[in-house]
Amino acid sequence: MKKYDYLIVGSGLFGSIFAYEANKIGKKCLVIEKRDHIGGNIYTEKIEDINVHKYGAHIFHTSNKETWEYINKFAEFNRYTNSPIAIYKDEVYNLPFNMNTFNKLWGVKTPMEAKEIIDSQIEESKTNSPKNLEEQAISLVGKDIYEKLIKGYTQKQWGKACTELPAFIIKRLPVRFTYDNNYFNDLYQGIPIGGYTQIIENMLENIDVKVNYDFFEHKDELMENCEKILFTGMIDEYYNYCYGSLEYRSLKFEDEILDLKNYQGNAVVNYTDYEVPYTRIIEHKHFEFDTQSSKTIITREYPKGWNIGDEPYYPINDEKNNLLYNKYKKLSEEDNKVIFGGRLGQYKYFDMNIVIEEALKCVNKELKSNE
Ligand code: FAD
Ligand code: UDP
Repeated sequence: MKKYDYLIVGSGLFGSIFAYEANKIGKKCLVIEKRDHIGGNIYTEKIEDINVHKYGAHIFHTSNKETWEYINKFAEFNRYTNSPIAIYKDEVYNLPFNMNTFNKLWGVKTPMEAKEIIDSQIEESKTNSPKNLEEQAISLVGKDIYEKLIKGYTQKQWGKACTELPAFIIKRLPVRFTYDNNYFNDLYQGIPIGGYTQIIENMLENIDVKVNYDFFEHKDELMENCEKILFTGMIDEYYNYCYGSLEYRSLKFEDEILDLKNYQGNAVVNYTDYEVPYTRIIEHKHFEFDTQSSKTIITREYPKGWNIGDEPYYPINDEKNNLLYNKYKKLSEEDNKVIFGGRLGQYKYFDMNIVIEEALKCVNKELKSNE
């Protein structure tokens, strides 16, 4: 095996940015990936001429101009704006929670009328400082929205009662007293025309890459032949779970090709009642405004518990896990051979824009300061 300055474990967004920047300044890099393709969870695959988001809907959004300009170097983005629909039993609502949602729920037309209803529901179940997701949700939007649009979805997604979940999860969702169905508040938003995989392909051009290659199966040889490792897999697995396993949430994706032009009229439809076993159905062609092709592809997303060996899609950032992660982080700080990055390496619920910011921070610290 050749000698490398950096071994990069994982070809997701974090690992690929690091490899791209390191290669640019002349560092020899090897990227290894245990899946049979590059890209990590942003991977898209062209099937029936539709770019399928193989690991769930990915919508890029950021308010950081530098981040937006950075990602636009690797692909051109379209004007997609995420406006999911929520189905609760046989009722249809707009997300995020906004005047369209309030009008459908209560028949109110003005922000004042909506505020009055929400405030009275908040008052009824008053809690001073919300300690869990249920209290946080009710104190933001009141009981009706919590019961119809949050409670069932969240319990399915996380496999726990809302009273046992940290409040921060729900703070991601905007609440607006305007008729605006945009799921994000960010200045920039879109989907790369032609899918996400090209971004990673462009980053890894001219870099040695091995897929179907698991770090743990080749550890000794790899360690010997690199100066340093950037590890974007699970930090607890790297240290052989020596303090115990962190908790994750997994998912199952079920793709279906249909002989239909248009199945659900929207890219993302959430199913918010507990009885429906999936959380959402994605119809991929709507991410790129395709109304012409004769077929469509949908994906049902089922939440799933995680056990060692399953795909760890979400870290569960409650107090217990965060404390355990801090122990692994401390261990890594005493280790000069390896740095950790990304959703699994840093054990944080990062969106893509934050992954870019974190990867560039890591690049500055690791590569620029040693130049
Ligand atoms: P990953 O993409 O997980 O990459 C890590 C890579 O390391 C993987 O390819 C893995 O196979 C590889 N690996 C792990 N261990 C080993 C090993 N031992 N040997 C070799 N390779 C290994 N973000 C948004 O901004 N907008 C969205 O709409 C959005 N939607 C999402 C929907 C879902 C269902 C999920 C799960 C995430 C979503 N995200 C979204 C988040 C986004 O996917 C992440 O921010 C991003 O993909 C993280 O990149 P990463 O490189 O840190 O990790
Ligand atoms: N959520 C909800 N109802 C919905 C959509 C989201 O209650 O229809 C809650 C749920 O707890 C979820 C959180 O909001 O985990 C964050 O949702 P988001 O869509 O940002 O999650 P992701 O895309 O990361 O799965």
